[in-house]
Amino acid sequence: KPIIEVRNLTRRYRDRVAIEDLSFTVGEGELLGFLGPNGAGKSTTMKVLTGFLPPSEGSVKVAGFDVSTHPMEVKRRIGYLPETPPLYPELTVHGYLAFVAALKQVPGRAVKAEVARVAGLTGVDDVMGRVLQNLSKGYQQRVGIAQALLGSPPVLILDEPTEGLDPVQRADLRALIRSLAGRHTVLLSTHILPEVTVTCEKVLILHQGRVVAHDAIDRLAKSH
Ligand code: ADP
Ligand code: ADP
Repeated sequence: KPIIEVRNLTRRYRDRVAIEDLSFTVGEGELLGFLGPNGAGKSTTMKVLTGFLPPSEGSVKVAGFDVSTHPMEVKRRIGYLPETPPLYPELTVHGYLAFVAALKQVPGRAVKAEVARVAGLTGVDDVMGRVLQNLSKGYQQRVGIAQALLGSPPVLILDEPTEGLDPVQRADLRALIRSLAGRHTVLLSTHILPEVTVTCEKVLILHQGRVVAHDAIDRLAKSH
């Protein structure tokens, strides 16, 4: 059953159309690759899904809540790793995760356990006392995924999470992302085709702001 429902979604920046008439649904627990070249509209779509940008036209529902009328209900159900996350270079991993937990209104007495839970899931427990700017890019991205997992949102939206990583860090992060699917619905955006084919079962391809394909990867591979 769908947890994300996008209907005839258009978003403009002034008179420039970034995405046009997108319609698609994402089922619960799916791991969907969001593929397209730079400028295709991936970030814009993700920002509308997460409630950061209002739609110009059309509708987005997450878990049945319309993002235009119930933005807080939608935000609470989505963990988001933006392409360029806000920087807190001087915070420790623990300090940063506790800070984001507070922003997400995790109750004070539950913060410690919740931070430990997401640190365990993402494998950052051994660097909790280190400051963010001294971590490798691979660990920084794990921390980015850890903060998205705080509060256990059903949907994770990850914007180019493997960008800038070396091949080993990439493979590690992909394995982590795959381990989260099923329990979470995951949208993974990238402009790199193999990133999707080795990580996801389904792909949605965006080109110049429009959906040009949305199918299981093995079916797409057979039909082209
Ligand atoms: P992607 O994430 O696939 O690279 P974006 O969603 O960032 O694509 O961009 C889609 C289109 O919208 C591009 O043409 C981009 O230049 C434009 N765009 C994105 N953000 C803005 C903005 N804040 N103001 C004006 N145009 C923008
Ligand atoms: P990111 O997707 O990397 O988080 P944004 O799309 O939010 O970055 O863009 C960062 C800044 O640049 C924002 O202030 C945005 O308004 C601006 N911007 C991005 N793309 C364009 C564009 N094509 N034309 C004008 N401004 C843009």
